[in-house]
Amino acid sequence: MRSIARLELQYAHRFYNFKGEAQYLHGHTGKLVIEVEDSINTGVNMVFPCNEIQKTARHILQNFDHALILREDDPLLPAVLEVYRTQGIRDGAPTNTMRGPAFKTDLATAYPECRLVVTRETVTAEGMIKIVYALLKDKLNIARLTFTSGDNEATQEYTPCGTVERCPCCGIALDKNGICPKCGYRKR
Ligand SMILES: [Zn+2]
Ligand SMILES: [Zn+2]
Repeated sequence: MRSIARLELQYAHRFYNFKGEAQYLHGHTGKLVIEVEDSINTGVNMVFPCNEIQKTARHILQNFDHALILREDDPLLPAVLEVYRTQGIRDGAPTNTMRGPAFKTDLATAYPECRLVVTRETVTAEGMIKIVYALLKDKLNIARLTFTSGDNEATQEYTPCGTVERCPCCGIALDKNGICPKCGYRKR
């Protein structure tokens, strides 16, 4: 069965070189739907607690929230960085506290200190799904990702492999020693 979690991300982006309105810088509340597939954990009668899926996803994806997403070849990128540098906020600001861990994949690099994500491809709904899957596939048994950004929506199915051992008391994944990091349950 599947547990389904939803997450919203607010960001600015543009489709560089796209012949349409989206070539101008604009913003969205992007909506991500994460479907996690596994057996039902009989202890809690769930596949996975949805707030825990959200927490796992948000930890890394908060780098996209209230952030600017630009393609690596977009000339706005050096221009924006130069403004941030001149303003003294390129390497951080005391009020920039909602920062996720910096990440670098083939498709995207996060610079949490200045709320910027640089991507290899245009960040369409399809592009976002590719980026999100690469970031979360080792953390969640993803069966489907759906992303909506304005009128654009895309979805992709995946084949989840294996099963995650979960706590029978609170439902979250046990660590490699068979201990629940949340409630302290120990597998016998
Ligand atoms: Zn857009
Ligand atoms: Zn537990």
